[in-house]
Amino acid sequence: MKDFYEILGLDENAGESLIKSNYRKLASIYHPDKNPENQDKFIDINEAYKTLSNEALRNAYDKELKDYKNFKALQSKNKVKPYRTRLRDGANVNLILDFTSDIEQKFQENKNIKEDLEKQEYFIDKIIEAERYIKCPSCNGEGKEIGTLSMPCPECRGTGNIKNKSSGVMELCRNCDGYGDIFLYKCKTCKGMARIKTSEKIKLNFSLKELLNGGDKNIIIFEGMGDAGAFGGKNGNLNVTVKIDEKVLNKINKSGGGFLSKFSFFK
Ligand SMILES: [Zn+2]
Ligand SMILES: [Zn+2]
Repeated sequence: MKDFYEILGLDENAGESLIKSNYRKLASIYHPDKNPENQDKFIDINEAYKTLSNEALRNAYDKELKDYKNFKALQSKNKVKPYRTRLRDGANVNLILDFTSDIEQKFQENKNIKEDLEKQEYFIDKIIEAERYIKCPSCNGEGKEIGTLSMPCPECRGTGNIKNKSSGVMELCRNCDGYGDIFLYKCKTCKGMARIKTSEKIKLNFSLKELLNGGDKNIIIFEGMGDAGAFGGKNGNLNVTVKIDEKVLNKINKSGGGFLSKFSFFK
């Protein structure tokens, strides 16, 4: 947790005017125009000021900071081991899409396509209904209600593992599902999982050349467009397996004098 008082060089009892004057001083020193190397610092300074200059935000922050400091003190006393990470990578989402009618249409619309295809890019847009995990919008992917704390799991003391009393084998801690920490207030929308499964329409853009070049087992990868990762994990990819009816392609190829043969779909 960031210490906004430390960031602004203040004492926790600092009054409004001191907050404002320290902020102005630091913001001018770390302004990206003068200090482009230190953009993060500038962001921190602004975030600190935004919070501390608003009474309601400051009260909530002070409460959290106090809890956090108590919790840190407790942690060092108890020698809680580091948490297992919550980081979870998103899975790949795989789709099979048929491009036969799109390609047919493209060739009908563009009479010069066989002369131009080498020089010019043609694109095919597809609007698809994708079902996948997205970052939970209610908690902004934190899993806990915004502004609330997470604590080390008291059952496993933050390790995520617990010894089975009868067998003596280490097992995943059920209290925290192996994460090692627990949220005081889980986000109600995602139930603490930081992401939600949803179905939404997305537009994908394919290059005609790419479609024709991949051959029969063509898979086009949209990086980062699969399931969202959680707690800092990477997003999965969206993999589209391309299907094109060979008979239709052969027909287009023949009527164009065999010009498609240079694409690997015909090899
Ligand atoms: Zn636990
Ligand atoms: Zn949530």
